[in-house]
This record gives sequence, C-alpha cells and structure tokens, in this order.
Amino acid sequence: MKIFNTLSRQKEEFKPIEDGKVMMYVCGPTVYNLIHIGNARPMIVFDTFRRYMTHRGFDVRYVSNFTDVDDKIIKKANEENVSCTEISERYIEECKKDMEGLNVLPATVHPKATEEIDGMIELIKDLIEKDYAYVTEDGTVYFRTRRSKDYGKLSHKNIDDLEAGHGRELKVAGSDGKEDYLDFVLWKPKKEGEPFWPSPWCDGRPGWHTECCVMAKKYLGATIDIHAGGEDLIFPHHENEIAQSEAANGVEFSHYWMHNGFLNIDGEKMSKSLGNFFTVRDISEKYDLQVLRFFMLSAHYRSPLNFSAELMEAAKAGLVRIKTAYENLEFLLKNASEGDASKEDADRIAEYTKKFDDAMDDDLNTADAVSAVFELVKFINTTANESSTKGYLNALKTELLSLTDVLGLIIENKTEDLLDSDIEALINERQEARKHKNFARADEIRDELLKKGIILEDTRQGVKWKRAD
Ligand code: AMP
Ligand code: ZN
Repeated sequence: MKIFNTLSRQKEEFKPIEDGKVMMYVCGPTVYNLIHIGNARPMIVFDTFRRYMTHRGFDVRYVSNFTDVDDKIIKKANEENVSCTEISERYIEECKKDMEGLNVLPATVHPKATEEIDGMIELIKDLIEKDYAYVTEDGTVYFRTRRSKDYGKLSHKNIDDLEAGHGRELKVAGSDGKEDYLDFVLWKPKKEGEPFWPSPWCDGRPGWHTECCVMAKKYLGATIDIHAGGEDLIFPHHENEIAQSEAANGVEFSHYWMHNGFLNIDGEKMSKSLGNFFTVRDISEKYDLQVLRFFMLSAHYRSPLNFSAELMEAAKAGLVRIKTAYENLEFLLKNASEGDASKEDADRIAEYTKKFDDAMDDDLNTADAVSAVFELVKFINTTANESSTKGYLNALKTELLSLTDVLGLIIENKTEDLLDSDIEALINERQEARKHKNFARADEIRDELLKKGIILEDTRQGVKWKRAD
C-alpha cells in the first residue's frame, strides 16, 4: 500500500510500526453546531481508509477526538445562556447520528479534550522543564518555537520566511510577553464566563494543538503510524502538534501524515465562517446519506471536490445502478439452478478485486476503485441471466458486496426479511441487557438493528422503532 505522506510530499510504501497493526489518529470536529459536509469529508475518506486496511488484514486502532472546549463553543453557550458542556454534549450526539447515517464506523476511542486536561498539564510541565516552554506574567504558557530544530518540516515552510512575513506583528507580540512571534500558546488564562481548570500557572484552559498531542499519545503511543485530517490543519495545527510532541517525547510523532483536500462550493472552501455550507442534516432531507458518501468517494481524497446538485444527482444515479445490479442477482437467485461457479469464472470475477485493490493501494484512489465497481456491475448485467447457476450468481453477489462493503456503501435492503416480531424480540433483549447493566450487549443489538435499517429511539414512553427509508 502506498500513501502520500505530507512530510515527504511523496507516495511512500506503508510500513507499520508493528506488523499487522495500524495506529491512526484523525483530528475530529469542534462541536458547537451540526457538522457540515466539508467536515464529513475527512470522516468518510479516513473511515474508508480504515475499512480498507481492515479488509487487507490489519488490526486498525483508530482514534478520533471531539474538540469540546473552544472559543466557538463558549460563544454559542453564551448566546443560548447554557453551559459549554450542554452545547458540546448536544453536538457530539448530533455528530454521532450523522456519522451513523454516513455509515462511518465509531472510532476505537473518541476522546474528549475536556476529559484529558490532566495529561495536557503534564505535557506542558514537561516542556517547561525541558526549556521548550515558558510562562509569562499573566500565567500564559508559550511554546518556544525556535528551539524546535525542524519546525516547518510538515508544511514545508521556512521558519525565517514565517517570521519575515510577520515583522510588524512581531513588535506587537513582544508586548504580550511572547519572546518571539512564532511562539504559540500551550495554556491560556481564563476570561470572565469561560470554562477553566486549575493549573500550576493559572486557572485557564489548554491550547488546541496541545490537546491532540496528548490524546494521540495516551490512546496510541508516543509514535503513531498515521495522523490525518483536512489540509487546512497542516499549518499551524499539525506543525505545532509535531513541535510539542517531538520536543517532549524525543521521538518522531507520526510516520505518515495524510490530508484530504477541501470540499468546495463554487470554487471556495465550504466553511462555517464563510456561511457557504450545507450541514449533513440538510443533505439528509433530500438524499439518502449513502449518496453523499458515494459522492465523496467518487473523487480522490487529496483533490479538491466541488459540491454541486449535478454531481449529487450523478452519485445518486450511480448508486442506483449498483443497487439494481445487486437486486437483479437476488431476483435471479430465487429460481437459479444448482451448480458451482467454474474455476475460470471465479478467476474472472476475482479480477475486479485485483483492480479495486490496486486502486486503493495507490494512495487510496477511491475514484478508480469506484470505476472497478462499475466495471463489475457491467459484467454482472451482461453475464448474469436465467440460465446462470446459483454458484455463479453467488460468486458475483459476494464480489459486489465485498467491494461495496470496503467503501462503506450499503447496497442490501436488509429490512425485507426481518419481521416485526423479530425486531420486538431484539428490543426486549436489549432492554433486559440494559437492566442488567450489560451496555455492551445493548449497544450491539442497537447496531445490529441499525445495520438492518431499523432505527431505535429511546423515549419516555419506552423504545420506539422505525424502518429507515
Ligand atoms: P473543524 O471542526 O473546523 O476543526 O474541522 C474538522 C475537520 O473537518 C478537520 O479535519 C478539517 O480539516 C475538516 N474540514 C473542515 N472544512 C472542510 C472542507 N470544506 N473540506 C474538507 N475538509 C474540511
Ligand atoms: Zn488535531
């Protein structure tokens, strides 16, 4: 498998730290609103990467955080006159619903920044001890960027150019106690009405870059295989994560850095601040979210992708083509004669896996992988008929399911053969499991039902369910 590594700006063969394992960290959203479809792009593409690595036999440990302390959350909490926790918890839940709709698997761990503050304080203490950080009069702690020997290695920026570009601000910066314009905040003092935590320097809160360093190390280790996120995070977020982590731990932070391109609208980055966004929820009112997932995967993850109604319609039509081929196979299977697929047929069918895997091995080229799926669909439509044997039809069906499964696309209509009584029985079993505090089993049942298109809703009147349409 080759991965384009932002560090080297080249495709490199992926070599895991530990054989058969992938340790991966993906920067998650700041939770102050419903996520927009630009935020969904990294979720979908790196979920697909994870699924592919799992399909190739790797044991993937996938960590993705929620940034639940931030200026924007504080602003929203003040506007609504509620606590920051209420805002962040609300939007974490909403984000998880969107992820479910997009068929993005839950991470192995979803740490929240506010639950990891102790670790952040420890990291900052360590950096101060090692002379990589300093405290100013008001208790702000800054990172001494110039001490970091290879600062700029990820974003390919030259430290002197950075400073020259900000000569004027440098003078201003001196007045706030910073030694150097390039220095960035590790810990900042509280302001009126903001959440804060006690620390040896002042009551306050951590800087954003510090959060990810701590969560990545705690849940994955000092050195990880892959760190990922949108390309806007390369500088300064990821550059500053590298500077702190490597200064504190003395080892390389991440071997590979993967960054997705922007989702644009009319050629401009979709973002909350520009107001040119659609939330995932907006889209779900018009389309099955599988269409959005398919739309995202139809482009290479590093290319910019322009959102448009035409492209969404094309994605919808493409998905229908795949589903129709699958339904035809199901239909033919009902009356097909017994018999196995011949060796030649099996080999011909396996060629599509090969094409698909070759595309995915080439820096997750989902655009070409989707083409391989369409070629398979064409092959199914031209070769499967009333005289095909069960073995042959099943081989085609398994192949199509295996490829679409890696892309996280649901093409089976699984609700058909699940009777209401089966659903009720599972719901009762879930209630029993909950009563006995067996929440793992309860969640498992909920997920099992969800996969079959059954959505559960816990209400005051008990559990209600409906079939997804
Ligand atoms: P944020 O909540 O802004 O920190 O963003 C969460 C994730 O979404 C980060 O990995 C961002 O890089 C990514 N992201 C935000 N906007 C876009 C966009 N328009 N296109 C692609 N990725 C984006
Ligand atoms: Zn991060």
